[in-house]
Amino acid sequence: MKFKLTEMTLKEVRDFGKVEVCVLPWGSCEPHNLHLPYGTDTLTVEKIAEISCKKANEKGGKVILLPTIPVGVNSNHFGFPLVLNFSPTTQLTILKDIIYSLEKSQIYKLVILNGHGGNEFKTFCRELFGKTRVYIFLIDWWNVRRDIVERVCEDKTGEHGHEEETSWALYLFPELVHLDWADEGKVNEPKLKGIKEGWVWIVRPWTLFTINSGYGNPKKANSEKGKVMIEGATDKIADFLVELSNVEIDEKFPY
Ligand SMILES: [Zn+2]
Repeated sequence: MKFKLTEMTLKEVRDFGKVEVCVLPWGSCEPHNLHLPYGTDTLTVEKIAEISCKKANEKGGKVILLPTIPVGVNSNHFGFPLVLNFSPTTQLTILKDIIYSLEKSQIYKLVILNGHGGNEFKTFCRELFGKTRVYIFLIDWWNVRRDIVERVCEDKTGEHGHEEETSWALYLFPELVHLDWADEGKVNEPKLKGIKEGWVWIVRPWTLFTINSGYGNPKKANSEKGKVMIEGATDKIADFLVELSNVEIDEKFPY
């Protein structure tokens, strides 16, 4: 049974029956060091969503995969060519329209599968809470199985185009990865002590923070590591989707 809305006809949507859960993957368009494509977050989160929904539907879930939003919040990457940015307020407007569309189809369980660190949806969930019948469930997918990441990655530093993310890409879309082009992902230290120690937060301008937009050394990445991390995360996401699909939303939900 098909579950990817962009590839379904009206007949297939009708044959699917009652939809319990919709999954909305949300990516970004930004450089990732010299070796990964601009769409890395988008391509990764879409495939994570697809694998998770497939596993969930095979276990009896009634889960539809919505189209991936390919642009995220990236004002901190301006200065690199062709960075595309949605302001957070734009994201909120898009999210509201998606929710309104789901309400029209009497679908009240929405899972946002986030693929980009700059996309921060919690504030939006608080903004929309109580104003819609749609429940929003937020997953930053890379946080789902940190235990596996800690076990398989040799270089645990970094957060962008690093060993972890490059391994995902080598597993999911190896034809777009050029690992031999990568720099070592070294970053510059800020002047102020509080920022260096991590307890003062700022929006980091990545043209000054990084050399070529990468943070973390990707050289030890490989597809086997990517496979272990991704299969582990998608197993867990799929189990949640099945559980969510089967649960009834009443006035006491989720207790
Ligand atoms: Zn990324």
